[in-house]
Amino acid sequence: MNFLEKKICDEGVVLSSSVLKVDSFLNHQIDPEFMKQIGTEIANRFKAEGITKIVTIESSGIAPAVFAGLELGVPVVFARKKKSLTLTEGLITSTVYSFTKQEKNEISIAKKFIESGEKVLIIDDFLAHGEAALGLADLVIKANAHIAGFGIVIEKSFQVGRQKLEENGYRVESIARVKEMSTNGITFIQSEVMSS
Ligand code: 5GP
Repeated sequence: MNFLEKKICDEGVVLSSSVLKVDSFLNHQIDPEFMKQIGTEIANRFKAEGITKIVTIESSGIAPAVFAGLELGVPVVFARKKKSLTLTEGLITSTVYSFTKQEKNEISIAKKFIESGEKVLIIDDFLAHGEAALGLADLVIKANAHIAGFGIVIEKSFQVGRQKLEENGYRVESIARVKEMSTNGITFIQSEVMSS
């Protein structure tokens, strides 16, 4: 078991066969040392790609993205789910459907923060149906930048997100890949972790 899989087993709560609650270290309270390890692991996997920017989405993608940005020495931009009062012009937008919240969100990013030709690493906390990931990809494409791949903290491999991203030709690196989960336990697809 890698460091994240162990943490999920110790602290994660399986709310249903498809929803995992990890609010003690990722979605509400953040464990900075642990998050740094996650960000570093994602960064290491993309070290050779010449990444110039990381793009994520508020709020739970920000912490792992910042630590990955620190390791790679690149800025982090987070897409907003709600329009900001100060962010009104020069926006790129995309529509994302959330299965967990059962609502559509228009996500946006200021165009000036993604220059054309940049090599972008997209990071998010969970990969489920791939809606958020594809919405972020859409923003990067609209900015005429290149997508180097996706760094995901927890992938639910029994849902279609990875398949959708791979069908689009994208590289997906997830630190934990949940194969199955129930109130009796969680099983993972083993993946090699570089930094633990
Ligand atoms: P997708 O767009 O891939 O269907 O879902 C990804 C987004 O939904 C993530 O950004 C995450 O916020 C949320 N999400 C999806 N599944 C789960 C889950 O099992 N637990 C938690 N905490 N969030 C999830």
